[in-house]
Amino acid sequence: AADEVKSLQKECVKVAVNIRPLIASELALGCTDCVAVVPGEPQVQIGAHCFTYDYVYGSLGTSSSNIFEECVAPLVDAVLHGYNATVLAYGQTGSGKTYTMGTNFSGEGSNGGIIPQVMDSIFNKVNEMKKDTEFLIRVSFIEIFKEEVFDLLDPHANAVLKTDGNSLLVKSSRPPIQIRETTSGGIILAGVTEAEVRSKDEMALYLTRGSQSRATGSTNMNSQSSRSHAIFTICLEQKRNANCSGDGSITNGFDDDILFAKLHLVDLAGSERAKRTGADGLRFKEGIHINKGLLALGNVISALGDDKKRKDGGHVPYRDSKLTRLLQDSLGGNSKTIMIACISPADVNAEETINTLKYANRAR
Ligand code: ADP
Ligand code: MG
Repeated sequence: AADEVKSLQKECVKVAVNIRPLIASELALGCTDCVAVVPGEPQVQIGAHCFTYDYVYGSLGTSSSNIFEECVAPLVDAVLHGYNATVLAYGQTGSGKTYTMGTNFSGEGSNGGIIPQVMDSIFNKVNEMKKDTEFLIRVSFIEIFKEEVFDLLDPHANAVLKTDGNSLLVKSSRPPIQIRETTSGGIILAGVTEAEVRSKDEMALYLTRGSQSRATGSTNMNSQSSRSHAIFTICLEQKRNANCSGDGSITNGFDDDILFAKLHLVDLAGSERAKRTGADGLRFKEGIHINKGLLALGNVISALGDDKKRKDGGHVPYRDSKLTRLLQDSLGGNSKTIMIACISPADVNAEETINTLKYANRAR
């Protein structure tokens, strides 16, 4: 029985590594590939290091095309059964987080990412089940920037000034959202836009709208660097129609069988160290805040995987950052989580790649 409990707990957080190919800018610099995968094993080698994960994708014959089926589809299934779930994309700027998640969805030709596939699979299921189940589907899209939560779907709140090609956020027009906890332990965002959607196209529209509002700014590493955590959340409420219980038996017509669950799809801020983000004080401070969320996330996930801490009712430090606070009811407990660590194979990125692999290894 102890083994069974252990395997259930291990199920709670899974870790995958996604290795993108060398990209044109790296090839132009003459970079070489310094990451190897042990054939047939979910193991990544870099220099003298070797790490094992639940899944590894992207290198020589290990196509990324299975990520959705293997890592994410089980979470969609869990959400349909009333369990909360979280998909996290972690990695340095330029490692492929947004590409992998499909956060910058723009309609045609961009169906490869995780979020578009989630949308497809949810609406496929909903259409299959709609004969005897009523669905209410809502999405919200927020970002956490400098330890404040902003509503990316608030039509009035996302003023961005463009100066010299740099984006500058006008903060006063974006009132931060407060995170609250309900008496039953659920986390809610006070006043956040929750858009009801009835089709994939409608859902995609909000994804596109929100990603256009995302705060970006230039750093000396990547002008498109995203220094905020972006969280696209799908809330699914379902009510089985009277007289239509799943096992074919007749149920009491007054018996409201309502299931509620949410799926968080998280494109985390770049994990690169603050010291690589220019010398100017402002950016450095942002770097510290970003690391606060990522640090807390690492500690939470590590505590969740620590059998001893869990058994002793030990402390899981959700309150250490806005990110972990917001995800509190969807990380650990009955919820399912997959962390996808994205890495570049280029030798110039080796140091950050090793940091990412260590972080992901600790999560496991
Ligand atoms: P991040 O969001 O982590 O900063 P991006 O998703 O923006 O990184 O990816 C950086 C660059 O690498 C982009 O030009 C993207 O198109 C490219 N890229 C990322 N992953 C892949 C992949 N699996 N195959 C091909 N190109 C990729
Ligand atoms: Mg990105």
